[in-house]
Amino acid sequence: PEIQNQIAAGEVVERPASVLKELIENSLDAGATSIEVNLKKGGLESIEVIDNGVGIQEQELELALTRHATSKITYFPDLLSISTYGFRGEALPSIASVSKFTLKSRPKYQEIGFEINVKFGQIQPKKPITMPYGTHVIVNELFANIPARLKFLKTPPTEKRRSIQTFLKQALPHTEIEFKLFSDKQEIFHFYAQEDILSRLTKIWPKHIVSCLEKINFQDDNIQITGLASRPESIQARGDRIFLYVNKRPVQDKLLLSAIKKAYEGKILRNEFPQVILFLDIPPELVDVNVHPAKLEVRFSEEKTIFNAVRKAIQNTLEATTL
Ligand code: ADP
Ligand code: MG
Repeated sequence: PEIQNQIAAGEVVERPASVLKELIENSLDAGATSIEVNLKKGGLESIEVIDNGVGIQEQELELALTRHATSKITYFPDLLSISTYGFRGEALPSIASVSKFTLKSRPKYQEIGFEINVKFGQIQPKKPITMPYGTHVIVNELFANIPARLKFLKTPPTEKRRSIQTFLKQALPHTEIEFKLFSDKQEIFHFYAQEDILSRLTKIWPKHIVSCLEKINFQDDNIQITGLASRPESIQARGDRIFLYVNKRPVQDKLLLSAIKKAYEGKILRNEFPQVILFLDIPPELVDVNVHPAKLEVRFSEEKTIFNAVRKAIQNTLEATTL
């Protein structure tokens, strides 16, 4: 089973950012209203996620570290129509098999919490602890037992950059939840609960860029597109200020990117990028999810329709502002 966990880890976990993604998703699934992330050395030394969600009962702790023991649904034909992120019960056991892992948890009604340590897959006996309710996961020394994977990790600044991008991708749209990010004990971001996306963006992007953002509001039959797109004057040679969501889930998608590029055609050079946050809401039957455990790649059944809708949504927004 240990080797299976390690193999699964290869699928689910590639680097600190992918660990972070899994842990934040678990906190979201647990109904947390506050999520704190601490990185050390960009996550290479440690990744820590603390939430105030429902917690894990004492008798379920070991189970949470067992492969395919998800407390969430186990069969579903349509990923985008389910409301939880986790579905395979694979993340925690995988991560714990390739790190020095600590899981502490306390449901609200349980007076004390419990802590379990897992050393590269070896589960240690749990012990009682005092802690606030919620769950606290610490991942130390990722891949220290697997040199072949360790080798593929980049420098702390690079891993930090990726982890921050993952954090933002998850945190930006969940405006009802408080998010904090610390890196080497320094506060990087603090988003308050109920703070809207524009206000969150003012904390991550320069003022002059945020002030170039225009609201997208587009509806065409069964496709709804909302979000923000920058006026061409703020266009830059960096592509990391584009956040895409399909039915509220962060996605990576070339079709959407090329539709965005198309909308800016003539206003933008080939190596330049606008700033865009796009929320696409479409009927689940129009989108096919490639169920890869780590990435969320989508395939649209009516590519042309989606492409044109996105292009139009942005073009309309840009035209309205130049009148
Ligand atoms: P999945 O999310 O696919 O169910 P995971 O390996 O990510 O699988 O987590 C295993 C189980 O551990 C979850 O089903 C859940 O019951 C529990 N769990 C993990 N993280 C948390 C958390 N932050 N709060 C509450 N329960 C959690
Ligand atoms: Mg999960």
